[in-house]
Amino acid sequence: MSSRKRREFLKKVFKGGAGVIFSGFAFPSSTAPIAGFLFSSAAPAVSPTGITSSSAATSSAGTSSAATSSGHPSSGHPSSGHHCSETFRESDKSVIFSGREAMFYRKTGNNEVQCQLCPQGCHIFDGNSGFCRVRKNIGGALYSMVYGRPCTFDVGPIEKAPLYHFIPGHKRLCVATVGCNLRCKYCHNWHISQRGPGEVREFSMSPEQIVQESLQQGVTSVSFTYNEPTVFYEYMYDISRLASSKGLKVHIVSNGYINPEPLRKLLTWLDAVKIDLKAFSEDFYSEISAARLKPVMKTLKVLKEERMFFEIVNLVVPTLNDNPYDIRRMCEWISDNLGDEVPLHFSRFSPTYRLTNLPSTPVRTLEEAVRIAHGSGLKYVYIGNMPGHRHNSTWCPGCGERLIHRTHISVIEISMKNGSCMKCGYRIEGIWD
Ligand code: SF4
Repeated sequence: MSSRKRREFLKKVFKGGAGVIFSGFAFPSSTAPIAGFLFSSAAPAVSPTGITSSSAATSSAGTSSAATSSGHPSSGHPSSGHHCSETFRESDKSVIFSGREAMFYRKTGNNEVQCQLCPQGCHIFDGNSGFCRVRKNIGGALYSMVYGRPCTFDVGPIEKAPLYHFIPGHKRLCVATVGCNLRCKYCHNWHISQRGPGEVREFSMSPEQIVQESLQQGVTSVSFTYNEPTVFYEYMYDISRLASSKGLKVHIVSNGYINPEPLRKLLTWLDAVKIDLKAFSEDFYSEISAARLKPVMKTLKVLKEERMFFEIVNLVVPTLNDNPYDIRRMCEWISDNLGDEVPLHFSRFSPTYRLTNLPSTPVRTLEEAVRIAHGSGLKYVYIGNMPGHRHNSTWCPGCGERLIHRTHISVIEISMKNGSCMKCGYRIEGIWD
C-alpha cells in the first residue's frame, strides 16, 4: 500500500486524536507558558530564541538547513557507523525529565547502542550523544533530547520552504529544535542546527500544544524546518499524526539524510516534502556537508515510490557545485528517475558561516542552470533568492501562460482552476487545495 493510501486509511482510524496517539508520554507539568512566543505573519518574525527568524532560523528558500564542520569530534567524516564521543552539557536528571526513548536504534551490548535513524549510523557509548547532538545513550537506551523542546517556531508563507506547488499563498506553522545530522559549511541556521540541547533557549511544548496553536493561528499546515527534522523524529512523528487527524496538512523541509524505514513510516502522515539536493557529487557532500550523496538519492527514490508530493532545492554555490556538467547530470537523473514534473529550485547562495570567502551566485549562473534543466526535460524550474526574477513564477508547460505570479515568496496572482491552466487546461503537478 502506498503511503498516500495508508495515510487516508489511518486518518480514519485515528480520528480520535491525542488520547490514542500519545499514550506513555507524560509531559512535564511545569511547561513554560506558550502565549507570547507565537507570532502571526504580520508581526515581526521573532523566534523564541529572541532573535528574528531570518537570522536565527533562515528559510531554506535558497539556503540550507544543515551546517558546518564545527570541531565536533566526529565531524568531517561521513562514514557510516562511526563512534560518537561527544558528551552532553545537560544533566542526565533533566534529560530523563523531558527526554523520550528514541525510535529506530538497537542495543549492541555493553550498554552501547547504534542509532538506525539516519545514514550516519552512530555507535553511541553510554553517556554520549550522536553526531546530531540530540540523541543520547542513557544507561544503554537511546533518548531523544529534544522531544517537546522546540527552540524556534513562527508562522509564515508556504513559499518560504520553498514549496511552490503546494497550497500556494497559505500560511504554515514552522517548528524547529536544535541539532542536525550534517555539517554544511554554508548553513544559514547554524545558530540552532549546530547547537545541542541547553545551548540555546528552548521551550516546552507538547504535540497537542503545537497543534492547538496551529488551529488557533488559522494556518493550514505544520512545517518541520530550519534545522533538520530527522533529528527530532519522535516529536515530529507525534505532531504529524495529531495534526493530520485534526485536518492540518504536514510537510517537512529536509536534507533527505534519513534511512528508508523511518522515512516510510513518517510519510504516512505527511502531505509534502522538500528535499535539499545539495550537489550531484560525493566529493561535495563529503567535504562540505560531512555526508554522502547516495542516501539522499535513495530518499528521493523512496518519495517517488511512495507517491509522495515533493520538490527539490539545489543551492548553487560558486566554484563548489556550479559546474554545468554536474548540473546536467543531476537534472537528467531527476528527469529519468523521478519524473519531469518534479519542481526544481535553483537558489542563490549568499556568503555565510564558514563560506564567507565566496561571492553570491551570479544571476547568469542560475539562468544557465535553468536552461540546462529545461533542456533535460524538467517542466517546473525556479530561481530562488532572486526576488522579481521571472523564474520566481510558475509558467504553463502547455501554452506558456503565467499561472502563478510570484515575487520571491509572495504570491501576487494565481491563474489556475482546479490545478489546471485556465487557458489551455494543462494539468499542473501539485497539491492545490
Ligand atoms: S540521527 Fe543522530 S544519532 Fe542517529 S545516526 Fe543520525 S546523526 Fe547519529
